[in-house]
Amino acid sequence: MFGLGVVKGLSVTLKHFFETYIEDLKYYPKRATLSLADYRMAPGSKGIYTVQYPEEKPTLPENFRFLPFLVTDYEGDDIATQIEEARCTSCGICSKVCPAQCIWIVRDTDENGKPRSKSKQFYVDIDMCMNCGYCAEFCPFDSIIMDHEYALADYERETGHVHDIVRLMKPASYYQSIRPTQYAQKAEQRRREEEEKKRKAEAKAKRLAEKKAAAAAAKAQKDDAAE
Ligand code: SF4
Ligand code: SF4
Repeated sequence: MFGLGVVKGLSVTLKHFFETYIEDLKYYPKRATLSLADYRMAPGSKGIYTVQYPEEKPTLPENFRFLPFLVTDYEGDDIATQIEEARCTSCGICSKVCPAQCIWIVRDTDENGKPRSKSKQFYVDIDMCMNCGYCAEFCPFDSIIMDHEYALADYERETGHVHDIVRLMKPASYYQSIRPTQYAQKAEQRRREEEEKKRKAEAKAKRLAEKKAAAAAAKAQKDDAAE
């Protein structure tokens, strides 16, 4: 029938309009413990809602990702120590897998010019980064993690949009605060790997000791027979 599509379309809009007020009423008893934005962003919530950004910021889901940062196990403010205690071993895997090729790494060297398993410089061009998270996925040392920080507009491209090692460095406690589940899983994985390594080393040492004891016994037997 002529005009039926328009009526149907408008009825959808009207449904959302009324649902907004129904959801407001449902939210009312929960207002002390939950922000309206978080309630409205939860799965199953209906109606229209507006966030008064930047005064109001909805809580981000743990797996939200924007740009990568580097993890350091040092919690203080000294930049040199932060870089020295960074988990990054300068292996270069992240820069190889990055589809946008926006990671540059300069490996550190010791006083003899020998390469160290540390990064001296680490750059991420945030204008090229497409937020895919491959760098964090492939890093074998849990040292590059996708951040939740997204308000990064700047007037200057080189200093503002090419993040260097100092800007990228964040403590492990920050990583734990934004991704508690992932942090706990990785910590547990590392603990298991360490245990397995220790178990293998102990088994190897035991085998070697047994071999040595057997060789000593055989030698003693041989010496006895010779006498
Ligand atoms: S993959 Fe991880 S350890 Fe290797 S260079 Fe990248 S951040 Fe560093
Ligand atoms: S998130 Fe993706 S594009 Fe951005 S630096 Fe990591 S791998 Fe490259």
